[in-house]
Amino acid sequence: MNNNPDIVCFRHCPRKNVFCRRVPATCPVCSSRIQDFIVDPFRVPYPFANAAHNPTSIAIRPSRGGFLDDYDVTRDDLHVGIVDSDGRVVEFDKDGLIANDVDRWTDCVVFQVIPVAWTVRWDETLLFVSKDVRWKSVNYDDISLNCFDFVLEFLNNLGYANLKFANKEDLCERLILSKIQKAIRYNSLYRALKHQEYLLSDHT
Ligand SMILES: [Zn+2]
Repeated sequence: MNNNPDIVCFRHCPRKNVFCRRVPATCPVCSSRIQDFIVDPFRVPYPFANAAHNPTSIAIRPSRGGFLDDYDVTRDDLHVGIVDSDGRVVEFDKDGLIANDVDRWTDCVVFQVIPVAWTVRWDETLLFVSKDVRWKSVNYDDISLNCFDFVLEFLNNLGYANLKFANKEDLCERLILSKIQKAIRYNSLYRALKHQEYLLSDHT
């Protein structure tokens, strides 16, 4: 189960998109009774998913709390893990290497980077990299050896296509940040709709 709050978008007046939790009888832009739509109401895609249901992928969540209610992009760190082909999440943090703490990965940003043909190699690489004694809790350091180092090591060992990264900054820039943009946009919609019934945006 995830926490999809269901945000709906529609367009009644030409240049305004309306975001809301429930479609109203009266248009909040022109105040007329809604007979039909320019764009029929549709559910805004929920950008978070359960890592356990997304085998062979990379999963991201905030280090503390959840994306939807807690995450602040300017303040909070992200945490990243690798999902094997059975949906088991492997992550490195201050307690060392953790496998399958699935309850903390129910609403995360999760994405695949390899084709199906690479599944066996993915699992083998994860097993291989996990055996490294580096990933002991005593070696963990918030800055110099964290979850991103583990994922960096994994991807560089995997050696798929151009998924090789010079360092953590490179990994974040080229792989992670673009994936969480949608999540951040969804969060701001969700938070605005906690305090107001509608959010209007220009349709350009
Ligand atoms: Zn209208």
